[in-house]
Amino acid sequence: MVKKSTFVSKLWHMESFNGTITSKLPQTGTSVFAVMSQLAREHNAINLSQGFPDFPVSEELIDLVHYYMRKGYNQYAPMQGVPELRTALSQMFQKNYGARYDADKEINITAGATQALFTAISAFIREGDEAIIFEPAYDSYAPAVLTNGGMVKYASLQFPDFSINWDELPRMITSRTRLIIINSPHNPTGSILSDEDMLRLERITRNTDILIISDEVYEHLIFDNIKHQSVCLYPELASRSLLIGSFGKTFHATGWKTGFVLAPENLMNEFRKVHQFVVFAGNTPIQYAVANYLQNADHYKNLGSFFQQKRDLFAQALKNSAFKILPCHGTYFQLLDYSNLSQLPEMEFARWLVQEHKIAAIPVSSFYQRKENHQVLRFCFAKTEETLLEATAVLSQLKTE
Ligand code: PMP
Ligand code: GLN
Repeated sequence: MVKKSTFVSKLWHMESFNGTITSKLPQTGTSVFAVMSQLAREHNAINLSQGFPDFPVSEELIDLVHYYMRKGYNQYAPMQGVPELRTALSQMFQKNYGARYDADKEINITAGATQALFTAISAFIREGDEAIIFEPAYDSYAPAVLTNGGMVKYASLQFPDFSINWDELPRMITSRTRLIIINSPHNPTGSILSDEDMLRLERITRNTDILIISDEVYEHLIFDNIKHQSVCLYPELASRSLLIGSFGKTFHATGWKTGFVLAPENLMNEFRKVHQFVVFAGNTPIQYAVANYLQNADHYKNLGSFFQQKRDLFAQALKNSAFKILPCHGTYFQLLDYSNLSQLPEMEFARWLVQEHKIAAIPVSSFYQRKENHQVLRFCFAKTEETLLEATAVLSQLKTE
């Protein structure tokens, strides 16, 4: 007699889908961040690959989350985010940049910047539309365009300073260009956009229907007294832009996945039509806690100098190593050129480094569609002094072949 469990599993097989799946993302594998963090775990390595701090979130902020949870703020937040947090953001952008975003109509809280990016791209990209992305690029932009039937046009940031080639950009614009995605401070390179860059973008997009997505998740992580040129400082650009931020970066809490979008009302209306069906709303107690915590500007205004010290410590400790240190003006990533050490392509060198020396980093080639190789790896320096010294002691030992 056939046992019931076998019978059920046979039935399941008979009825299971047997057609062809045509992938919407045939070229896309598992994110390099997941791959390298997994390798770091397997080899018990110091993980400087995926970008996240190894030091704790402020006790005060954790207490605030507990406070709001205990107070019973545990059900769905409003779709656009809790009013307290939208108001806090509106005041913060007014104070920091003189920008005016209406808390009700022009600000939306999201489940992190990744969701904000995907939702924004889905709201505006239609079949056949083109989006311009600068490479190397953060990995989530292109798949979001492709999933929505759009086409990606890749502009290259110029090695080694990773600046935009302003002669190339106008040649890439066509009647189908719907979006240009910018990111400053820039992941993975640590380059930043200047006032001149923003003005050029403003001129190039004038009298077009092109929208801008400005990924500013590292807005506070900017060094050397450089001023962050937020898109909101340029009213003409801001009128065609969705500005995206993340509290994960600002409050050392990448696992909380809470972010935001600022955009003029006409763009925000379209954003919300999609947002409500992607996630509906973000995490309630965290939104209340962050709203409260943002009231004190000391909680974010010294982030630049905090991370600059880490950048300097990391670079100083590698001064006499075989690595060449590339300029880094923002983010918490440092690029290191290893061409004095090895001729291996980036992915192979990164694998060798994690297997043989227990240091995990990200090959910058992963941020290029064509896997361009400059013999450069990205290292995250959002780590304690102890971790950074331990890692740099190993990296400094590596000798030219
Ligand atoms: N944009 C950039 C440039 C990032 O580096 C990251 C993540 N580190 C994100 C977006 C996504 O942010 P979140 O974790 O809030 O989704
Ligand atoms: N933004 C982080 C980085 O660049 C990782 C985000 C992720 O794991 N998707 O490392």
